[in-house]
Amino acid sequence: MALKAEIISIGSELVSGQNLDTNAPWLSRALGELGVAVAYHSTIGDDMDDHVAAFLAAAERADLVLTTGGLGPTQDDLVREGLARAAGVGLREDPESLAAIAALFARRNRPMADRNRVQAMLPEGAEALPNPIGTAPGVWITIGRAAFASMPGVPNEMKLMFAEQVVPRLRRRHRVERVIVHRKIALFGRGESDIEAEALDLTARGHVPEVGITASDATISFRIRGEGLTAEAAWAQTEETAEQIRGRFGPLVLGEGAVDVADALVGQLARTGATIATAESCTGGLCASMITAVPGVSTYYLGGVVSYSNRAKVDMLGVPAELIQAHGAVSPEVAAAMAAGARERFGSDVAISATGVAGPGGGSPEKPVGLVYLGLATADGVETRRVEIGPEQPRDIIQRRSAKQALDWARVALLARPDGGASR
Ligand code: ATP
Repeated sequence: MALKAEIISIGSELVSGQNLDTNAPWLSRALGELGVAVAYHSTIGDDMDDHVAAFLAAAERADLVLTTGGLGPTQDDLVREGLARAAGVGLREDPESLAAIAALFARRNRPMADRNRVQAMLPEGAEALPNPIGTAPGVWITIGRAAFASMPGVPNEMKLMFAEQVVPRLRRRHRVERVIVHRKIALFGRGESDIEAEALDLTARGHVPEVGITASDATISFRIRGEGLTAEAAWAQTEETAEQIRGRFGPLVLGEGAVDVADALVGQLARTGATIATAESCTGGLCASMITAVPGVSTYYLGGVVSYSNRAKVDMLGVPAELIQAHGAVSPEVAAAMAAGARERFGSDVAISATGVAGPGGGSPEKPVGLVYLGLATADGVETRRVEIGPEQPRDIIQRRSAKQALDWARVALLARPDGGASR
């Protein structure tokens, strides 16, 4: 039968809302990767009766209980005593833990306070879980039907102890043998429901491997869950589905892992050796900011202009004043002139531009809030696109979405180019 796990987060600062519990979600994800389902999260303050009650409840309803916090040397650190009471045993001093704590203080050239001795106390029948980077050893003990692993609250100490002490015990003693990997493939350029409609066979319940879709800021991600006895086997299980997604969505695919549009664009710039410049009005420099957020982009990004006023469009990008007069600043003509101006002035292979109505004011029936014209200038000439993010969208979404679309347009344009030398 599958193991059922419970995570107990301990500390009055957690129940009072002063500190955020990040340990429990981290442990839940880590157990998920091992194929262990977490059934309960509990949070308790620094009260002995509550410790004992929570431990006894967990010992009845779970097979594996992970606790964090409450192992320090002070009076409100009650886990050792609470575990002993729940198990109905006394406490003993563990000489190895005491030696480890003394050695830690010696390494830090600090005298060991008497109260630290209490951290070497363990319930009878428990094993100490060594803590190489802190004073509090963890505790491994069986209570009722459940194996308990009590770890420190400090996240770094907890994570190391989980990986080095808890996971090996789960593998050895609880037949936790599976490895689960999550593979993420990111796409951009179409809506979530559109993409989902073309992948219903993959996302169907019961599909092996399991496939899910999530969207964040118009970037759509497929998550493929692979399972196996080794990491390689788990990965191999995802391979065919990953290939299907790549094949089906071709140019929409940004890449794997934590990639977004800017990373994929910079990947294409690096592959082709092309350079890029930006000319921005309504996006206020977001395109430049997204591009420069990617490390190593200085060879490819030559620079950009935030030409927010008409004057700046004329002076800094050479947009003809008559063009603005005749068509307005938010027009395909001006978007084209901005892109062409940036390409010429920066001497780049490619230039992108954005001019639009970011709102919330300034919209009109012909030019509603959310209307943005993008420009793309290359050696082949200048093209423009009309993008409508939607008048109901807030300003920051209109700006981010249109900036991402401009970047993505340049990315897709570069896809067709050969490796290496840029076509100027
Ligand atoms: P140590 O003896 O190493 O201090 P401890 O077991 O006594 O460990 P606590 O005193 O409960 O741990 O917590 C130490 C610190 O760890 C807290 O001040 C807090 O910053 C952090 N911490 C504790 N619990 C959590 C949690 N659930 N999520 C995130 N951080 C936590």
